Amino acid sequence: MKNNELNLPADLKKFARVSKLKPVLVFVLCELISLLFFFFTKDFMYQTEYIAKYNIIGHVFYAVIFLIPFFISGIRQAFSDKTYLGEVEKVKVTTTQDYQRAFKPSIDTGYKRNTIYLFVRDQNGGVEKRKVYSTRAKQDQELDYFKAGDRVFHIYGSKYTVIIPKPSDTMAQCAVCGITTDINKGYCHKCGYTLPSFFSKE
Ligand SMILES: [Zn+2]
Repeated sequence: MKNNELNLPADLKKFARVSKLKPVLVFVLCELISLLFFFFTKDFMYQTEYIAKYNIIGHVFYAVIFLIPFFISGIRQAFSDKTYLGEVEKVKVTTTQDYQRAFKPSIDTGYKRNTIYLFVRDQNGGVEKRKVYSTRAKQDQELDYFKAGDRVFHIYGSKYTVIIPKPSDTMAQCAVCGITTDINKGYCHKCGYTLPSFFSKE
């Protein structure tokens, strides 16, 4: 069974579909706005004395305008995300130096960032590295939440990767909103999404 053929409840499938569609729509909309902006300003822009002389400046300006949607629409993340179910083979935690203002790094704006990567083996036996958590380092941070051997599930568009409960567990983390909820209810008490069947069976 491939990951995209997972037997997920209809509402979870819809959640993934909508999550996939949203950044694409935002992207297209932003590009349309950029296009309108281009048409309404190009004459004025290229007629200004300086740009008429060095019109490469105008070209670069519009190239930047058209590139902005790639960064603000979330479309890049949308293409790297994926629904998966598998077993944790290895956990890797990294601590890196990061800066609040990436354009102007300085000691004052520097901070440490913790990131958790999981090497997940899916049903087909392939192992893929997944970034599941990345945040500013703080005290009492639970960095050993995931362990080798855990079965994990992530649904496209969610911020969370959850551990699939063991048969003895009565509570599970919702794959959509991340809250801990009662497995026997069959759905999340906070967001209402159905819990996948593999949360209770097996
Ligand atoms: Zn929920």
